[in-house]
Amino acid sequence: MREDGASCPDACVLCESGATRILFQAEECRTPRPGYGWLTSDPLARKKVPPVVRCRVCGFSFRVGWSESDVHAVYREMKNTAYGRWEEDARCTARRMLNLLHRATGGRQGTLLDVGCGAGYFADEARRVGWEVQGLEPSRYAVEIAVSELGLQVQRGEIEDFKPPGKRYDAVTAFEVLEHLVNPVGAVGRIYDLLKPRGVFLATTPNAGSVFARILGRRWWYLEEGHLYYFTRAHLAKLLETCGLDVFVLRGYLKKSASVAYLIHKLCAEAKWVNGLAKIAERSSWLSGLRVRPYFDEIVALGKKRSGGRPSMSDLGV
Ligand SMILES: [Zn+2]
Repeated sequence: MREDGASCPDACVLCESGATRILFQAEECRTPRPGYGWLTSDPLARKKVPPVVRCRVCGFSFRVGWSESDVHAVYREMKNTAYGRWEEDARCTARRMLNLLHRATGGRQGTLLDVGCGAGYFADEARRVGWEVQGLEPSRYAVEIAVSELGLQVQRGEIEDFKPPGKRYDAVTAFEVLEHLVNPVGAVGRIYDLLKPRGVFLATTPNAGSVFARILGRRWWYLEEGHLYYFTRAHLAKLLETCGLDVFVLRGYLKKSASVAYLIHKLCAEAKWVNGLAKIAERSSWLSGLRVRPYFDEIVALGKKRSGGRPSMSDLGV
């Protein structure tokens, strides 16, 4: 997996089987959105989106044919200029996530690592309610916002290479991150090592087993090129269990807090002919202030670090 320039992954990361079938050909996949640079630094390859395959043994779906060094380079240089525009939406959802986290910790705060913290809105909300927060984020642009504007402690980099500043964590969070990682098993294994005994891991990721995903197929909104892995609830549970975490909350939907302006913006991104409507919605302070709680087809998972050590793949029969 880690050889520069190698085509990844060469087998299913959940069951290690090399037997796959094509689920969506590259040319069938939805039009990539700007921002990911086509997940390759090779200009000749930029018009080819990696195909999505499904493991014949465990049914896990993922993209193949990308290179780890290219993916890391794209994340490093990524500039998500929409951070500030939807800050209040992000903060409202962050507070909902903190309520869920506090159910797992019995309302106690401690040390928290937010993996893929972006501009740091969740980390900032966590700090406000008493968590001692460390952020980790690959994008230079996002780290700059989190550090200079919010005064957060954020390291730039990937979870696999993260050097904790001399401590372990009561909680690790990763929102809409697992689907982007070059090796989710290695990353969650690293998170296991970073957690204190009975520490909590809270994650969200698109639900590839949702009704929307099944009905929309290759037109599903989360089938975008920046997503390398597509989890169902069963596959996410398998990932956490494999990495030594006991799963005790696993929901196939996420009740976000969103403004009507944000929802119109998202819907318009799916249908480019109504771009004008998206711009009007973004500029409307009334629609930005009008808040709803729609269900998104993302999985929410809470896991607790199992005592007795991380199981090996052979212990799990995979
Ligand atoms: Zn598999």
